[in-house]
Amino acid sequence: LSFTDLNLPDWALQTCKELGMKKPTPVQQHCIPRILSGEDVLGIAQTGSGKTAAFALPILHRLAENPYGVFCLVVTPTRELAYQLAEQFWALGSCLNLRCAVIVGGMDMITQSHTLMQRPHVEIATPGRIKVLIEQNPDIPPIVSNTKFLVLDEADRVLDTCFEDELRVVFNCLPKKRQTLLFSATMTRNLQSLLEVSANKAYFYEA
Ligand code: AMP
Repeated sequence: LSFTDLNLPDWALQTCKELGMKKPTPVQQHCIPRILSGEDVLGIAQTGSGKTAAFALPILHRLAENPYGVFCLVVTPTRELAYQLAEQFWALGSCLNLRCAVIVGGMDMITQSHTLMQRPHVEIATPGRIKVLIEQNPDIPPIVSNTKFLVLDEADRVLDTCFEDELRVVFNCLPKKRQTLLFSATMTRNLQSLLEVSANKAYFYEA
């Protein structure tokens, strides 16, 4: 399979070429068509497998089609991962007018609230900081409630019990009608139960 076979638009094919991505990796070949067809995805994939582009490309495609109505929240366990994810979103979305915000601890909360108020297309957050912003700022929950895609990156670590309280606050703001994309290095029971409540068809990928 080539990127052309995955029903991605021309701008995405061109960007992949410029980034030296000649051929989709297995996780991309399997997950991109499923995400584009509206399914939830639980992908067991390691760092280095190309999993970020596997969810970023279809999400960016939907954003490019509807920049006023499609919003994506990516939750990841650490600040470093949040910045790495943002770099890939920026690179893959470089020809779009993408507003992508990194919401992590150690940064000024007022600036972050303002950033969220500008309704970024993609919010990449650690669980602790997004929870505090939601709780302290009544303007934030209505923004989060427009989320069309929820991504949990390194989902096994995000769903670790120490983030349970944070995730409950975030999940309570999210709309029921959304696509949930979970990527994890290992399979856990928590992961599966997260998709069981979803109304979408769920696709399970493991290399
Ligand atoms: P990830 O698994 O998302 O951490 O990606 C690891 C690295 O692989 C990133 O630096 C990507 O730019 C790169 N990458 C992703 N997809 C491809 C591809 N299809 N061909 C070559 N490199 C890729």
